[in-house]
Amino acid sequence: MCSSPAPFLMSTMFPILETSLVACSVLMSLPGGANCCREDLREPWVPRNRMPQGWRLRGSRGHGERLILIFSSRYSRLRQWNTLYLCGTDEYGTATETKAMEEGLTPQEICDKYHVIHADIYRWFNISFDIFGRTTTSQQTEITQDIFQRLWNRGFVLQDTVEQLRCERCARFLADRFVEGVCPFCGYEEARGDQCDKCGKLINAVELKKPQCKVCRSCPVVRSSRHLFLDLPKLEDRLEEWLGKTVPGSDWTPNARFIIRSWLRDGLKPRCITRDLKWGTPVPLEGFEDKVFYVWFDATFGYISITANYTDQWEKWWKNPEQVNLYQFMAKDNVPFHGLVFPCSALGAEDNYTLVSHLIATGTLEDWTRNIPRE
Ligand SMILES: [Zn+2]
Ligand SMILES: [Zn+2]
Repeated sequence: MCSSPAPFLMSTMFPILETSLVACSVLMSLPGGANCCREDLREPWVPRNRMPQGWRLRGSRGHGERLILIFSSRYSRLRQWNTLYLCGTDEYGTATETKAMEEGLTPQEICDKYHVIHADIYRWFNISFDIFGRTTTSQQTEITQDIFQRLWNRGFVLQDTVEQLRCERCARFLADRFVEGVCPFCGYEEARGDQCDKCGKLINAVELKKPQCKVCRSCPVVRSSRHLFLDLPKLEDRLEEWLGKTVPGSDWTPNARFIIRSWLRDGLKPRCITRDLKWGTPVPLEGFEDKVFYVWFDATFGYISITANYTDQWEKWWKNPEQVNLYQFMAKDNVPFHGLVFPCSALGAEDNYTLVSHLIATGTLEDWTRNIPRE
């Protein structure tokens, strides 16, 4: 009478420059010692010589998702369910470009270096992914460009002009974290391009007074630049319909449901999917040759391209929503990208993509300890 369950697809991914597993080990130990602080746990779980130089324990974000993922994948393998367990490093974006500059390497060299370090740590922990992949592959470019092209052809991509700060000396547009200046609200002198650390208000970088390029300290100029936007409002009905079919009765965690609900309640807005950078997936559109896709547009396609690097049968996993159960595990700040932006892109591409069936989001350590019953 017992029917065999649908195949399981499990995935998580994290930025190349972060040390997530170290934080994961923190949660591993908490049930036995709720009073331990992070520093107490560092030594027993991760010998110092295994910690990449200069990496830090991440405090606020939980990263318990790695742990849940390990248990879930081992459980489903023990049950002999057909399971694909994948993980990888997400390697594009400004953080990589900057780190490369600091270390005097090219972005590709810095990714090669850190990918090996990540993979080595997972081996040391005896975590047996089917594949531990990365996003800097030709499959990633091919799949991302294909999804984009389908969205473009179906009218789900808009063009608009954005005002941005550009450093003429560095010859590049400055991402928010590479500009500093005086807060237009409280006058704090070291406000960042996206937020003021003193008054906490969100800032649009072009509003900063006396802006400075953080790399060369010269004063950037305001330039307008043409960008592409994913038309989320146009995809909202499809998203709602899919959520209505998927979420009730699933293992979506309450915080994931709440985060997606609050985005929808506030109304979806078009989301910029391109950046004036060199390090990223090229945009296959005339007039956009000097831009790349925003890392959060294509990072989640990394799961697909990593699978494509593992097997040429990848479409049996990723274009098979009727038969595949997709579990995704993440910290709660990644919920909008996995539960909203990726599904909208995939639904708009109209290519029968497998979408997340169960979205498991972990909170911060603080959320977690708040829920520990106290005697
Ligand atoms: Zn301020
Ligand atoms: Zn500069």
